[in-house]
Amino acid sequence: ASKENGKNMYTFYARDMNDHLSETMLLEIELRKALERNEFYLLYQPQIDISTGRVVGVEALLRWNHGKKGLIPPSDFIPLAEETGVIVQIGEWVLRTACLQGKRWREEGLPPLRIAVNLSGRQFLSRDFVSSIQRTLSETGMNPEQLELEITESMTLDVNRSISTLRQLKNIGVTISIDDFGTGYSSLSYLKNFPVDCLKIDQSFVRAMLTDANDRSIVSTIIALAHNLNLRVVAEGVETEEQQAWLASCGCDELQGYFISKPIPDTELHRFYRQCS
Ligand code: C2E
Ligand code: MG
Ligand code: MG
Ligand code: MG
Repeated sequence: ASKENGKNMYTFYARDMNDHLSETMLLEIELRKALERNEFYLLYQPQIDISTGRVVGVEALLRWNHGKKGLIPPSDFIPLAEETGVIVQIGEWVLRTACLQGKRWREEGLPPLRIAVNLSGRQFLSRDFVSSIQRTLSETGMNPEQLELEITESMTLDVNRSISTLRQLKNIGVTISIDDFGTGYSSLSYLKNFPVDCLKIDQSFVRAMLTDANDRSIVSTIIALAHNLNLRVVAEGVETEEQQAWLASCGCDELQGYFISKPIPDTELHRFYRQCS
């Protein structure tokens, strides 16, 4: 009987695994079609200068409005897109869309705000990445100085290659920020050699900062480190006035988070801009 049970167990698990497999495969197929079907769009989360309270930039955040399943958050499909390589095409779409939007806002009378775009590892490491950035900038007419590319520490494991890519990007005129800073394990000596412009303090530190002395030390240390290296520093995930006040007292340059604004559609940026000017 126990052997029988074992067999049933096996078939049970195998079927379970198959269900999981086909669901993943289905999602992959739908992910490939999502671009043609125009199911992606971008929201933009404002970033403000802490001393003036004015918007200085936005971060473009990808959204997938799935035909049947509704809105799927990036955390549910970016890893799969990355795994399957579809992220490279999606990433190009994000970049082009953000650049076109940047140009449109200029035409509509907004000042030259910085637009930050998240990169995936695959994208950053792909052979023709730098030329695709260059092509997108020239095709859209976006000013390179307004474009910021967000990378994470885990993308820069191949140090020499990263430095070379980052240098080429700097030559084009775009700026680079390190997203989720403090959660990776890049050594501080790399930072010195990386031509980056900005550190974004990960929201996990900001969230716990006022209740946890360790997180508070980490945040103030990242701010000091950034300034000693002549880098700009942005705090992510700011949700309360108290957090904003503490970050201001530490000399943090810019803030991003629900307390400032949630990610918003492009048309709403005008109102937000007027409101904080
Ligand atoms: P991220 O780049 O670190 O973006 C910040 C995330 O925090 C966003 O989540 C944003 O909506 C959320 N957030 C902002 N303020 C607050 C706050 O005050 N409290 C809390 N709890 N959350 C806040 P989202 O939009 O779900 O994006 C998640 C991640 O997906 C991003 O993290 C980024 O790593 C990735 N992602 C988003 N768009 C793209 C994209 O176009 N390409 C790639 N490769 N990755 C993307
Ligand atoms: Mg980001
Ligand atoms: Mg982040
Ligand atoms: Mg992230």
